[in-house]
Amino acid sequence: MTETPDLDPPEGLGVSDGAPSSRKVVCNACPVLCQISEGRTGACDRWGNFKGVLTRVDPVVLFKKVTGAAGEITSFLESQDWDGSVVAEGPLFVSGVGSGTTYPDYKPAPFIVSSRHEGVDMVTVVTEGIFSYCSFKVKIDTDRWLGPEQATVRCRGEAVGHVTTAEYGSQMLSLGGVHHLTGGTKKEGRVTCELMMDLGNRKPVELQIEGGSQLLIEAGKAPVVNGVEERRMRVGCGSATIGIFAQQWHGQVDEVVVVDDHITGVLTEPQAGRCLAMPPSGIKIKGKKSTPGRYFQVAKPGTGWGGTDITDPLSIVAGFDSKVAKPGQRILMVSTTGEDAEFFVLDQDLKLLAAPLPGPVRAVVQRIGENCEPALTTVLFLAGAGGSLRAGVTDNPVRLTRSIKDLLVNVTCGGAPVYVWPGGGITLMVDVTRMPENSFGWVPTPAIVAPIEFSMRLSDYSALGGHMDRVRTVEDVLRNERVHVVSWGELNPWPVGPVQ
Ligand code: SF4
Repeated sequence: MTETPDLDPPEGLGVSDGAPSSRKVVCNACPVLCQISEGRTGACDRWGNFKGVLTRVDPVVLFKKVTGAAGEITSFLESQDWDGSVVAEGPLFVSGVGSGTTYPDYKPAPFIVSSRHEGVDMVTVVTEGIFSYCSFKVKIDTDRWLGPEQATVRCRGEAVGHVTTAEYGSQMLSLGGVHHLTGGTKKEGRVTCELMMDLGNRKPVELQIEGGSQLLIEAGKAPVVNGVEERRMRVGCGSATIGIFAQQWHGQVDEVVVVDDHITGVLTEPQAGRCLAMPPSGIKIKGKKSTPGRYFQVAKPGTGWGGTDITDPLSIVAGFDSKVAKPGQRILMVSTTGEDAEFFVLDQDLKLLAAPLPGPVRAVVQRIGENCEPALTTVLFLAGAGGSLRAGVTDNPVRLTRSIKDLLVNVTCGGAPVYVWPGGGITLMVDVTRMPENSFGWVPTPAIVAPIEFSMRLSDYSALGGHMDRVRTVEDVLRNERVHVVSWGELNPWPVGPVQ
């Protein structure tokens, strides 16, 4: 990414003091209005002056649906240069990647392309949206405590987001958003914009959580917390782990404690142990007892066992009820991923003595690990497309919004399916790993640039006030535009069809 300039015309691109010199062109693809010398690009590196013509630097990306001899579609994003032969081989989809923009928004979208799907005339309206209102929701599969909810997340010292509600086996971050882009200092906006673009383009980003951990995250990759790569996503909470493996422990141990920052489970107390007719062990666990066998707040959150701060499991044992406990009892303490486990035997004084893990017990601990899924970082782009870019689609924008809600229009981002939130506007969410690489750009206003496509029946497009005079065929696009054709894969449903 290049250095982000101020909102004044960037250095070397001229000063907006009247008509530009004859060798410069003014880019009006965003409010910055760069004046670009011949052979140079504007501040965002997306538009350039090529022989005096304002040109989108990257070619527009088309997807080619190819069915092989075995009826299989070739792998996603296996790119190849356009050789003019793709039309005969299968349907093409013009994506928003590299398409250009509608800005200033009274212009029709840069590509409005007709096609035919199962005998029905369709149209896809294609553009690159400039999103001031957008953010990334990040799911980090880890038990380790990343920081308090609502804590500020920083990138290169700047506030770029916050920790939000933890989910089952995952910690969640909300990054970017209009307040960090526009509501803080110029540096905060710039760092936020760069971070967002990098996250969307599946690059690694380093983050620091106030009062919490240091993170290295990348979409689709394992998160790194305080320099340690996370491997396993927990099999469940402590209570669920008890329920899942109770039967396999029966007969091998007299008690199991699954240590979890949220819900620590104790085998003999809840229904799981009772149904197996396991007698109570008399173990007393620190923290708040919720229901039988379920304990909250057994320790502080941290990066130790089960997302707590403990490294010694005995630190959460308050003792044993002498009327219930019996010397010789075998006790397993284990974490929610099975990465930490210790075995104990109760002595005559009702003290726990460490002992080697017996083979059958070790096998169940290994089974916990086997049932853990790989820990990943998931990055969803969340953006509001209910604003002015709709004018590039129709002269009556609310009809586009209604048509999307009525499931007449399929919305995609770089061909990837999106979830459109109910309620007002067009607030959409998309998994960035299903989008083409380097789908995201930026402009120094600051805002994020992302591809968006609206596919619908041609008749519906006409009915909602579409720019019918701008509809062109894909063959026309191929003849007259710089294109980059890539293969479509099975990852995403073909966008021109029934709404998903
Ligand atoms: S920053 Fe804006 S005006 Fe400058 S080249 Fe990029 S899109 Fe055009």
